[in-house]
Amino acid sequence: MDISREASRVRIAPPDEIAPAAGKIPLAHALRWWSPYEGPGREPYLAVFMTARAYIRCCAHAGSDLEHEVGGALVGAWRRDRATGRPFIIVEAALPARHTRQGRTYLTFTHDSLVDLHEELEERYPRKILVGWYHTHPGMDIFLSGYDLWLHEHFFPYPWQVALVVEPHASHGGFFLPRPDGPPDPRRYAGFGELIHPAHGSVMRWGNLRPDGPSPPAGGG
Ligand SMILES: [Zn+2]
Repeated sequence: MDISREASRVRIAPPDEIAPAAGKIPLAHALRWWSPYEGPGREPYLAVFMTARAYIRCCAHAGSDLEHEVGGALVGAWRRDRATGRPFIIVEAALPARHTRQGRTYLTFTHDSLVDLHEELEERYPRKILVGWYHTHPGMDIFLSGYDLWLHEHFFPYPWQVALVVEPHASHGGFFLPRPDGPPDPRRYAGFGELIHPAHGSVMRWGNLRPDGPSPPAGGG
């Protein structure tokens, strides 16, 4: 992803929240999907959960253009598990960016698109925060380019902000998480906890992640 120089004029204000509120980590309601770089006992510090609604929205946008990169913002909440102190985020919505300029292998967040995303966040999700961003890599691997990493560090620098990369042809995806000692590793992506709707079961479609346990739970509806 590329970004126009104009975007530097956008004020990226930190949310009012500077420490996560205590909450209950929703492990009991989630199916954990593992990337090849992690597994039981090799959990990243920050736990990521995503609702089925946000996941489907994100996949639909990713699949809407198989030639060019598309992207947007991830909206949700940042919490700290009351029992263990472990921080976690819940991705509750995906906001496709408008006013972007696209090329074959890059996407430009223009000044207008960043202003737009912040306005949409304030209007539609006044109690939520930006928990990260997503973009696609059509026909490429799941990684952060040098420019992706630059963008992440400058516009999503907080310890609760993640970068999601989706490859829409093979249907792969992975999260890049901030580390306690610095920016994300640009190659080693993580899976996430899919928040399962009891009536619908899993909606996962990325083939590069493996479910925890023998098989996804069946829908109860
Ligand atoms: Zn990229």
